[in-house]
Formats: sequence, structure tokens, C-alpha cells
Amino acid sequence: MSANSIVVIGAGISGLSAAHALLARGARDVTVLDAAARPGGVIATRREGGFVFELGPDSFLTAKSAALSLCRELGLGDRFVGSNDGARKTWIWRHGRLMALPAGWQMLGPARMAPVLATPLLSPRAKLRLLREWWARPEPFLVDEAVARLLQRRFGAETVAAIAAPLLAGVYGGDAEELSAAAVTPRLLELARRGSISRALWRARRRAPQSAPAPLFTTLRDGLDELPAALAARIGAQRLRLHCRVLKLEMRAGEVHIQCDGGASFTAGAVILALPAAAAAPLVEALDGELARELAAITYSSSLTVNLAFDHEPPLPPGTGALVASGEGLRLLACTFMHRKFPHRAPPGAALLRVFYGGRRDGDAWAMPDPAAIALAQSELRRMFGIRVEPTAACVARWAGAMAQPAVGHLAQLERIEAALARHPNLALAGNAFAGIGIADCIAAGRRAAERILGDQPS
Ligand SMILES: Cc1cc2nc3c(=O)[nH]c(=O)nc-3n(C[C@H](O)[C@H](O)[C@H](O)COP(=O)(O)OP(=O)(O)OC[C@H]3O[C@@H](n4cnc5c(N)ncnc54)[C@H](O)[C@@H]3O)c2cc1C
Repeated sequence: MSANSIVVIGAGISGLSAAHALLARGARDVTVLDAAARPGGVIATRREGGFVFELGPDSFLTAKSAALSLCRELGLGDRFVGSNDGARKTWIWRHGRLMALPAGWQMLGPARMAPVLATPLLSPRAKLRLLREWWARPEPFLVDEAVARLLQRRFGAETVAAIAAPLLAGVYGGDAEELSAAAVTPRLLELARRGSISRALWRARRRAPQSAPAPLFTTLRDGLDELPAALAARIGAQRLRLHCRVLKLEMRAGEVHIQCDGGASFTAGAVILALPAAAAAPLVEALDGELARELAAITYSSSLTVNLAFDHEPPLPPGTGALVASGEGLRLLACTFMHRKFPHRAPPGAALLRVFYGGRRDGDAWAMPDPAAIALAQSELRRMFGIRVEPTAACVARWAGAMAQPAVGHLAQLERIEAALARHPNLALAGNAFAGIGIADCIAAGRRAAERILGDQPS
């Protein structure tokens, strides 16, 4: 390899996007290394009997443009399928029964008050407490704190336990007591600095255009793995080395020496580490102990998904899914009714349910053997919805340490990482710890890493 060569370590969406951006900007000597047998990282799809099982992520947020524009660039623009938002209604299992998330609840705060007053999810006392937020004073000097603390102060502990915590557990596998408000919900923190969160959300909702909005989520017709497959094809098989686990990086005469499992080694002019931060940490230990320590300190959660396919739709409430509040004696975090969110993923009349386990509060769930995970999912779905029929197919996937959990102080930690990186102009980082955990965030982070290595101005 020449001094101009660039090695990307990790062929998940972050690494593939970085490699694609390098090639698009004229770099020629690019190699991507990955320990796994296939590219895509946690993006993995299985097709069986007319069902599309998404084993990891199932779609990306339409509003974040990086994923849509990358797909279009790769010729996947005619593969888009939008989520069926007309059917959207989310349930929360609390006090042993299903109750609807109040209409107008926007992620972590209410944009409408009438549905909040009518919901059985909250006690009258909790509703009064929540209403008081309308008159909350600005907190201009707010610094980073746990999402739960910010929301408990504003809306009360019961609202956090009944609504915000299950939402965060369902999306991040995260613990609201740990997650950083500045990193995870910067908009909420900003609104709290200016005054009432609920009043600002209500105003924003009233000002929003009344035209039909774009679908909230977008996926690809045959499954989300069409995206890494198209990226890998564009990058070229000759540049992609699978079954190649990197163990260590060393700097020798200004070049990076890359040592892999099994004795293979590479020398590169520059390296992009597109891995979970915890996996990147031991690789840079010999290069920069301080950088390694900062990366190792970023926490991650693990998860396990169970896809259950049914020939006929079992008893289900209307809507697209349910979340579970903690302390309910269920391990299930979330269940998506996939055949309603994206009807094309199941044959007509059939049903596809996807269940999530794991997260910060159930760190061992990802290691459950397949039969135990399927049996647990069936028994918990029986309890929640009364489903007694056997699935016709089931599929389990586990993702250990895959989801970054930006904890309080995360942004300061990223600044320290940035300062350490300044000592290594031929090293860049990408992945879901650095600019958000969503697919679109990872694509943007991969592109920025490529720009850093090529010395381009960020776009
Ligand atoms: C179950 C689940 C559901 C999700 N749902 C959604 C969703 O619906 N929408 C959304 O936008 N986001 C979702 N996310 C988040 C999003 O999918 C991820 O944040 C993103 O795909 C991470 O991509 P990545 O490339 O940074 O990391 P990864 O996909 O983890 O890829 C890292 C790669 O590095 C390789 N690797 C690790 N160590 C080494 C080593 N030493 N040497 C060589 N290779 C190595 C791995 O084999 C892997 O291929 C979900 C995540 C999970 C786990």
C-alpha cells in the first residue's frame, strides 16, 4: 500500500459511507476491513416465505436527509417505502394493561394538552403536575444533566416513568437516568433554557404546515440491507476485506501499521476507525493511551430482536406497536407491528411482529439462546395481547455492545476525543458514538471522517 492509501476499519454503515465518500472525492487507494463475514454491521435483513425480517434497524428517519440522499446517489431512489403513518398509534403497557400514548406526544414532551388530560396513563395528580410546566420559568443557565432529571423537574416523576422512560428504552435501549439531555435531546434542553417546553412544542405544532407531511420513516423495498449491499458494490469487492479482525494500530515513520487477527497486516497513510468506540479503544491503545481511555469510557447497550411471523393476524390493538414501562415484570422493551408499519413486509393477511429485548437495564438479555428468546417473546405477547397462536417462522438476532449510550458529560468527552485526535492528523473516527445513533447520523459521521482525512472543509 502507498503512503496515500487509506484504510477504513469497520464495514457497518459508518465505514461503508466513509469509504464511499473517500472514493467520491477522488481517493483511489481505499481498503475496508471488517471482522464479519458480510458488510453492513447491524444492518441485516432476512427474506423468508414472503416476509422481510429486519434483524437490526428497520428504517431511517425521513427528516434527516443524509440517508435519503445517499440512497439516491446509489440509484436506490425508486426503492423507497414510507411508513404507514395513518395507522400510527403507540401503546404503553403500564399497571398491567395497554394504554395509548397521548396523541400529540412528541418524543419526550406534549405538544397537545387535551389528550394528556384525557389519558388513563397518568394519575390526576401527575396531570396537574404536568400542566404546571406550561408556566415554567426559563432556566437559562442549564448545563448537561440526565434526561430523566430534566423531565422530572419539568413534568414530574410519574410522567417520566409512564411515558418518557419507555420511549427512550424503546428507541435507544437507553436508561433515562443515564442519558445526556445535551447529547440526546438538545432541542428539549434549549426549550427549557427559554421557558416552557410544552408551550413551545404546542406553538411549533400550530405553526407547522398543514400539508400532508412526509412519512416519518423510510425503508427500502426488499429490506434495509439493500443500502449496505449497494455501497459495497459501489466500493468494489477488491477493496473490501471481510473476516479480517483488526487487533492493533501502530505508528511507524508517519504511517499506520495495522495488525490483524491471523497474522495479516497492512500499512496505510491514514486510517478511519468506524467501529463502536469500545471496540476502537483497544486498537489505539499503543498509539495514544489517552484517546483509548476516552473511547473506552463511552458506554454501549446490547440488544436482541425476535421476529415472529404469523399466517393470519393474531389479536392486536389498532396501531403500529407497544412499549413497556419498567417495573411491570416484563423483559420486553418494545414490540412493533411490522405488517402495519410497512405492510409490504408480510404477505396479505399475514402478520409480522418484532420484539426488542436488552438495553441498559437488562444487560444479559442479548445472550439468551434462540429457543429461550422465542419462548419468552411468545409468553410476553400472550400476556400483553392474548396471542395464543404459534408463529409460522421466528428469527432471533443479537447485537452485543452495538448501541452507543451518550451519558451525561458525553459532549465534553467528545471534545476531549477531538483534542486527542488533533495529535493524529492521519486518524479519524466514525460510528454511532460521535454524532447520533441513527443510520442517517452514521452516514453523516462517515462522510465527515472522510473529509477530515482528505483535509476537505466539512460540507
Ligand atoms: C437492534 C437495532 C435496531 C436499530 N434500529 C434503528 C432504526 O430503526 N433506525 C435507525 O436509524 N437506527 C437504528 N439503529 C441504530 C443504527 O442501526 C446503528 O447506530 C448503525 O447502523 C451503526 O452503524 P456503524 O457502522 O457505526 O456500526 P456497526 O453496524 O456496529 O458496524 C461496525 C462494524 O465493525 C466491525 N468490527 C468491530 N470490531 C472490529 C475489529 N476489531 N476489526 C474489524 N472490524 C470490526 C463489525 O463487524 C461491524 O461490521 C438500530 C440499532 C440496533 C442495534
